[in-house]
Parts: sequence; structure tokens; C-alpha cells
Amino acid sequence: MKKRVVAVRRLHAEHLDQLKQECQVDYFPELNHSNMDDFLSSMAQAHGLIGGKLAIDEGLLERSPHLEVVATISVGYDNFPVEVMTQKGIALCNTPDVLTETTADTGFALIMAASRRVAELDRWVREGQWRAHIGEPQFGCDVHGKTLGIIGLGRIGAAVARRGALGFGMPVLYSHSSPKPHLETTLGAKRCSMDSLLEQSDVVCVTVPLTRDTYHLIGLDAFKAMKPSGIFVNISRGAVVDEKALITALQANEIAGAGLDVFELEPLPSDSPLMTMPQVVILPHIGSATHETRAAMAQLAVDNLLTALRGERPANLANSQVWV
Ligand code: NAP
Repeated sequence: MKKRVVAVRRLHAEHLDQLKQECQVDYFPELNHSNMDDFLSSMAQAHGLIGGKLAIDEGLLERSPHLEVVATISVGYDNFPVEVMTQKGIALCNTPDVLTETTADTGFALIMAASRRVAELDRWVREGQWRAHIGEPQFGCDVHGKTLGIIGLGRIGAAVARRGALGFGMPVLYSHSSPKPHLETTLGAKRCSMDSLLEQSDVVCVTVPLTRDTYHLIGLDAFKAMKPSGIFVNISRGAVVDEKALITALQANEIAGAGLDVFELEPLPSDSPLMTMPQVVILPHIGSATHETRAAMAQLAVDNLLTALRGERPANLANSQVWV
């Protein structure tokens, strides 16, 4: 008998077809109050769950007694009760690597946009304010040659560092639990404490995962340590940063600007003070959101799910302890 899979949110037809070749699929392109009961009754029989922005809690796991594998279409898995899933023997698969370069592109877009005030000056032109030659009020800061500090030199952090070092001649500092000799050799990256990185960097880019240890890793003290001319970029998860502290630092001109793809509450509430700050570039969590990369992520998630349901070890296991 075919295994049962629940697929959530938009999947391309080819990915759904691939799932249907091996599994009985209940597909929920959108999840809302009106179809929540149907979703829950599907989950009660499901062996697999696949999708993006999945909201899984212990209650849902209790109601999903046959669940063997969850394939999230994301690299981050901070929204899952990983320990409980591991205790229950449920494999959690994510989609690393295929989104690394695209997310680093987003990071660099934010570095460029915040430093050179791209979004702000675009609005200024559209508002009809470009009536003569621009002057100092429209000047920004250079990116090339400035010191780039990466907090968390993992896959995405290294890809941002590579862009900075090789493309823009930026000296790279990084804070990380262990040294990265290869990146020190190839990029000239230098490891230092986070405090020292914050003090010395012109651009600070955060690329750590959200965990218990990294929740509000960047707070008031971190922003005070940064240069007043510093640009702060977050492409990891909103809650890695104490957003109130960031707002305070921006209001007090303790830092010059910020480029943000992620927020503590998403979508960003319309009354957030960030909304009215011209020195802040705001993106709607688009780190990996290109046609090519989202298709590659979905394909990897489908492959992981089907592999696990066949009883074979999937390529990407966030809780590898379940597969002994
Ligand atoms: P990764 O390869 O695991 O890199 C994260 C690195 O951060 C790891 O090397 C980790 O080191 C390090 N780290 C953890 N805590 C740290 C700390 N306190 N200080 C310094 N370094 C620390 O993951 P990735 O693929 O680069 O992805 C990183 C995160 O980006 C994801 O978890 C996800 O939340 C986020 N992301 C966001 C988007 C978006 O749309 N904006 C897209 C993709 C990913 P250890 O291995 O030693 O713990």
C-alpha cells in the first residue's frame, strides 16, 4: 500500500507528480481556518509531511501518530520541536546548500542597498525630489575596501564573505566557534571574538541559525559596540536580533543603517518604527526566493521525503540521531 503524504503550500506540478508516483498525496496549497479540520484529519493518517513555512508543534505531532518524516523546504528548522521529533523517531529533513548562494546574494543586496541608500533614493526620485544635481545629503558610504564582519561563518556566511573579499576587496572578520583555516587562506578571513568584530567592522552581517543560544544574540550592547558609521545586516532569523534594541540603536544614531530580510514578527507589523526609518532597507524574507532556488529546494525536499519513506537515509537530516 502507498504511504500517505500531506503536502502544504504551493508545490510545482512536477513535484506533486513525483510524490504521487510513490505516495497517496493530500495537497493543501493554502492552510487556513476553513481547511484546518481536513488538514488535521489528513495528518492523522500521514506518514510524511512536506512544505514550506510549516508550523509544527507537539500538539500536531500527538495528532499524527504515523508520521515518519517531515521535509521542510528551508534550511532553517527553528520552527520545529526537534527534540520531541527525535524522541518520537520522526526524521526532519531540510534543504541546505541549494539556497546558499541565493541567500548570500540577498545579503549582499542589503549591504549594497543600505550603504548606498538605494531604496531610500529610489523613493526620493519617484517623489519628484530630483530637481537638481544631488549633493551631500544624498551621499552614502563605500562598500569596497570596508571591513566586513560575519557572525556565523557557515555556508551562507562564507558565501557572503567570498563576495566581499573577492568581489569588493573587503577585509573579512568572523566570529565562530571554531577556526575556518580554508577561508582564512583563500579569503584572508580573520577569526575574532564577536565583541572585537562589532568594534572593528564597517558592515556586520548575521548568518547564524536561530537556536536557544542565539536568541537575541545581538542586543543593545552589540549595537553600542558597533561604529556609528556601521551598517547592520540580518539575513538569518529575526529573533537572533533584539529588534527593540536595534530600533533604539537606529533612533540614537548608534549605527548608520540596517538591511533586514527577517524580523521577530513576520510579516513586519505596519506600526513598526522600522517602517518609517529611511536608513533601513526592509525585505519581506526573500533570502532564498528566486524561481531557480525555490524549485531546487522543493526538489531536494521531495527527494529527501521519498528517500526517507523508502526506508533509506535521506541526504539532509537535521536530527541525524533518528537514523542509526
Ligand atoms: P550553517 O552552515 O549551519 O551556518 C551557520 C553557522 O553559524 C554554523 O557554522 C554555526 O557554527 C554558526 N554559529 C552558531 N551559533 C553561533 C554563534 N553564537 N556565533 C557564531 N557562529 C555561530 O547554516 P546556513 O546554511 O549558513 O544557514 C544559516 C541560517 O540562515 C539558517 O539557519 C537560516 O535560519 C538562515 N537562512 C535565512 C534565509 C532567509 O530567507 N533570509 C535563507 C536561508 C537561511 P556551528 O556549526 O559550530 O554551530
